Amino acid sequence: MVLRHEEITALIKSELEGFRKDLQVVDVGTVTEVGDGIAHVYGLQGAMAGELLEFDTAAGTGEKVYGMALNLDDVSVGAVLLGDDRKIAEGCLVRTTGRIAEVPVGEALLGRVVDALGKPLDGKGPVLTKEARHVEVKAPGVVLRQPVKEPLQTGLKAIDSMIPIGRGQRELIIGDRQTGKTAIALDTIINQKDGDVFCIYVAIGQKQSTIVQVVETLKRHNAIDRTIVVCTTAVDPAPLQYIAPYAGCVMGEYFRDSGRHALIIYDDLSKHAVAYRQLSLLLRRPPAREAYPGDIFNLHSRLLERAAKMSEAKGGGSLTALPIIETQAGDFAAYIPTNVISITDGQIYLEPDLFYSGVRPAVNVGLSVSRVGSSAQTKAMKKVAARLKLDLARYFELAAFAQFSTDLDKATKAELSRGERMIEVLKQDQCKPLELSQQVIIIYAGTNGYLDDLPPGRIREFEAQLLDVIRSRYPDVLSQIDSSKDLTEPIVERLKVAITEFKKGFKA
Ligand code: ATP
Ligand code: MG
Repeated sequence: MVLRHEEITALIKSELEGFRKDLQVVDVGTVTEVGDGIAHVYGLQGAMAGELLEFDTAAGTGEKVYGMALNLDDVSVGAVLLGDDRKIAEGCLVRTTGRIAEVPVGEALLGRVVDALGKPLDGKGPVLTKEARHVEVKAPGVVLRQPVKEPLQTGLKAIDSMIPIGRGQRELIIGDRQTGKTAIALDTIINQKDGDVFCIYVAIGQKQSTIVQVVETLKRHNAIDRTIVVCTTAVDPAPLQYIAPYAGCVMGEYFRDSGRHALIIYDDLSKHAVAYRQLSLLLRRPPAREAYPGDIFNLHSRLLERAAKMSEAKGGGSLTALPIIETQAGDFAAYIPTNVISITDGQIYLEPDLFYSGVRPAVNVGLSVSRVGSSAQTKAMKKVAARLKLDLARYFELAAFAQFSTDLDKATKAELSRGERMIEVLKQDQCKPLELSQQVIIIYAGTNGYLDDLPPGRIREFEAQLLDVIRSRYPDVLSQIDSSKDLTEPIVERLKVAITEFKKGFKA
């Protein structure tokens, strides 16, 4: 077949047009150095900060490993790898993807254990979410928020009475190792199981055995159905540990932004800081104080700022954050602890001495504070616990002095014995959160002197039995406190009758 020259030109033209359409510019670079979860890539001039990069693997099987661009230098890019760095070798090709790191969000994640990228780890099949969101987004601005005004009940007497937490607040749990930090966080999650708060527990660099225990505890108390567990263990590469809290946060924001309430636990941010220090040093960023990179404060503040109580126009949802920090030998003035203390709205300080002497939860009343939560505290609790914090602080002061003197005046003795009994009242077993009404009743009994003539050793027994009796014989007292969240005069009268009557039987 012979073609005429017009036909040939038309053919070439159409081919050229088609060629142009398919043309796609892909920025390609090559790995120059890889190791410890970090890759340095030559090229990639167009890469954005935080962009996902696609790495070819050395085996040539077509498998891809993803990374995230963090350092944008003149001729090279420093990236963290979100997969196995052993599969990548020098010379491997890298492409930009135009996407920023994102994770799936939605209700389908509830009841699941996922990794820092939202992939399931619990063997229950794929997570069927409809939406994915960027892990790093800006925190909502002032105009989009409103003041914290609803309580977030932890179910722990020591906290709900003296260091109340409000929805949308950021409250730090801080203390040495093995002082019950995780226990407080878990009790708070367990206490939400029949409520309207969704929970996210982010494990950062924890031991695998600890995470298994956490999940088991949540299952045993039927709290897992409202909870997402985002889990990175100590063996996971630093970049995954670094990204985990952001991934958990965006999962929580999904609930916050749809007018619902969520609670997120970061367990713990000390390990997060260490993971970030590791990858920053490997990326050759200059070290600052304690060898942490200079932007570590910003890292934590932009994470915690995302906890918020949204305005009514934005649906009124909330995200409450309880970050955990581990101190070394009680040194809360170290760099990372002071950073996080200054970012949060207060802290719950746990003390090893108290913990070992049997005061559990080991809350140090003097050093713990909640700067916004008291405006969200229920009326009922305010009425019974108003003076509790001051009284206890005074008790500890007096107790220290009383060690040296033998003859104390009557008033001091009374104060000491009251304080001793209130400490007993505030003790609480693990995984046994109490409803507001039950907390109010026992604290009422303590602050109004009903326990003064009991030996301290029998107070917990008294509490358990008293609550049983009230549950069976005065259920209206419980239901009225729980529904009105107030302690009105008629209820107080009934409560007085109930306690007095029960006490007669208890002594006998
Ligand atoms: P780590 O530093 O290892 O993370 P942690 O500060 O999170 O420790 P937990 O693991 O919560 O501490 O608790 C330490 C131990 O104390 C656990 O064995 C736990 O069972 C026990 N414990 C915590 N709270 C209480 C409590 N209220 N009553 C009795 N035992 C408790
Ligand atoms: Mg812990």
